Amino acid sequence: MSPLASAFLFQSLIVCIQALNVAIIGEGVIGTSTALAIKRLDKDVNITVYHDKDFKDILSHGIAGLFRIDDGKPINRLYGAQTFERLAELWREFGGNSGVQLVSGHILSQSQEKLDAQWENYGQVVYNYVNLTYPQLHSQFKLENDELYKAIHYTAFTSEGARYIPWMKKLLEETYDVMYIKQHIDSVEELGDDGYDVVVNCGGLAGGKLAADGDEKKMYPIRGLLLKTNASWQKHFLYRDFTTFTIPVIDAVYVGTIKEEHNDSLVIDEESIEKIWGAYLELQPAFKDVEIIDRFVGLRPARVGGARVKAETRNNTNGNEYRIVHNYGHGGNGFTLGWGSAEHAARLALGFDTSQYDELLNRVHIDMPKDVHKEKPKEMSDQDRAIVK
Ligand SMILES: Cc1cc2nc3c(=O)[nH]c(=O)nc-3n(C[C@H](O)[C@H](O)[C@H](O)COP(=O)(O)OP(=O)(O)OC[C@H]3O[C@@H](n4cnc5c(N)ncnc54)[C@H](O)[C@@H]3O)c2cc1C
Repeated sequence: MSPLASAFLFQSLIVCIQALNVAIIGEGVIGTSTALAIKRLDKDVNITVYHDKDFKDILSHGIAGLFRIDDGKPINRLYGAQTFERLAELWREFGGNSGVQLVSGHILSQSQEKLDAQWENYGQVVYNYVNLTYPQLHSQFKLENDELYKAIHYTAFTSEGARYIPWMKKLLEETYDVMYIKQHIDSVEELGDDGYDVVVNCGGLAGGKLAADGDEKKMYPIRGLLLKTNASWQKHFLYRDFTTFTIPVIDAVYVGTIKEEHNDSLVIDEESIEKIWGAYLELQPAFKDVEIIDRFVGLRPARVGGARVKAETRNNTNGNEYRIVHNYGHGGNGFTLGWGSAEHAARLALGFDTSQYDELLNRVHIDMPKDVHKEKPKEMSDQDRAIVK
């Protein structure tokens, strides 16, 4: 063998020896984003994704994925800002082909406190965040006691599960040789015993059980329902009080929802549908002639204390040490926090520096960096109200 050929063989052997074997449990938005985030850090890592259901039957498949943060604690704001940046990049480079859509809309509420929280949580990350003036609110929406309502407007992204995740999966399979195996896994330790160097737990609501360390006690479902409609003329999202909403995606409009904590029923019942539809018609009567073309029920994977993004080491039955990375429990914001938490989990999986996350995990407040700081928009004034009187 020539010296050049043996040098090449030696080099290849080193690469083979060093390539890390990573197993990921879950092909929802969290598992798929984490696989991609790992590959973007190190394309030579071997990744196998395990999932126990077909993609069309999991939570992430049915979701419109509007960007909005419920709990604005510092780590979520970082995850959200990183996700927003990623979605903006996908929108620039691939547009709707990536499942990402740029969309504007309104949130109406009688609670000034809740609207203020939107500004705190993500108002400085999204585009065009403004408070509606009284005439703007009054001319668009027919509300009982409308003088009690205030509203915000912003522009952000949807990342529709049924398009965004397959788009990432295609990239993973075709460009990065990631393998997918349909198999039920009992716990992360099962894959540790199979000899993986790293096991990443993106099991959604099952994440606590898969962790096999008692975290299951912190997990609980929040039942939700979505109605898919043919109201293709609806181009803006519209929320009232964070539960009654429409979200337009690429070729449909979703109407929601209910938020039932600790209810794990996957039955799509007429009572829930009527409740959602009735509440929405009150907000936007123009929907009376709209057709419901599909319906979907899902359980938000909520966790006391928020998403668990954390690494640990355990020994397998052969006595070898392996790393476990948890990335589950994103509740009602998995698409909003997903890319940021995937980047964090990927760094933990590969042993990269995570100081920017570690610091925030212990903080209760975060000052936004100066370059993204904007002035809080003005609230509706008496002068605004006077215009329509
Ligand atoms: C009505 C509704 C509306 C929502 N709207 C939004 C929104 O607008 N914006 C937003 O950001 N979020 C929204 N969410 C929240 C979002 O849907 C979730 O946070 C997100 O889908 C969670 O993704 P996941 O990958 O963790 O879980 P899942 O999508 O549930 O995926 C879990 C994966 O783990 C696998 N798995 C589980 N157990 C095992 C096992 N034992 N063995 C092998 N594989 C296993 C499953 O097969 C699956 O592939 C909404 C949720 C609901 C219900």
